[in-house]
Amino acid sequence: MDDKNIFMDIRTCIKCKNKADVVEKGKDYCCSCYFKYYCGETIEQYEKRTNELNQKREDKYEKYKNTAR
Ligand SMILES: [Zn+2]
Repeated sequence: MDDKNIFMDIRTCIKCKNKADVVEKGKDYCCSCYFKYYCGETIEQYEKRTNELNQKREDKYEKYKNTAR
């Protein structure tokens, strides 16, 4: 194994220095930093928001089911 080659291939996120998975406009980002860069919020925030939306939708559906009966 050639350590130099491996080192050359490692891309690090410019934000958090983790392993980068995405290159955007010549800058390396890891998944979560890219998501934050792209969406303006973290994956955790996004998931929380999505879960809350789903919960609201379910609540609405439950209400509809109850009134329809
Ligand atoms: Zn990062």
